[in-house]
Amino acid sequence: MTPNILSGETRERPYAKRRAAADLFMPEAVIMQIAAHADLGLEEDREVMGLLIGRIYEDDKGEYAVVEDAVTSKLESDRAMVRFDRDDMSALVDAIDGMPPGTDIVGWYHSHPGYGCFMSETDVRTQDGLFGGACGFALVVDPKRKEMAVFDSNPGSPGIAIMVILEDD
Ligand SMILES: [Zn+2]
Repeated sequence: MTPNILSGETRERPYAKRRAAADLFMPEAVIMQIAAHADLGLEEDREVMGLLIGRIYEDDKGEYAVVEDAVTSKLESDRAMVRFDRDDMSALVDAIDGMPPGTDIVGWYHSHPGYGCFMSETDVRTQDGLFGGACGFALVVDPKRKEMAVFDSNPGSPGIAIMVILEDD
């Protein structure tokens, strides 16, 4: 699946001078990894989720994030909910422990198989809990409709964020 990016689909090279409107820079390989994970979930009729690892930068327009990797773990999920399996978070903990110096959790992704890209009340609570208004992003992908959208961390009411896809060299 090659998802349509609802919140912007321009392509730039890594670390090029930031376009004024871009909030999040995402390597194409990570997008494909997330899309493949969501497609697998669709086959199994369940949601999937994971964390986005990267770095926060700041310029005169404010903060923005550059994603380097996506990580996930064993999940408890069905077609309408998903969470990390609390009894088996070791893969996730290992991935977070292994993050390169200077990187942080800059976002999370999850899928809405067949019901569109939006932030549910639960999603907003998760977003607020993860970032509390600090720079961070929620990526929602619908593998059935082949759509993807990214939301910022505005507390209580995340807005649509602009994502730029970084093509592989
Ligand atoms: Zn959701």
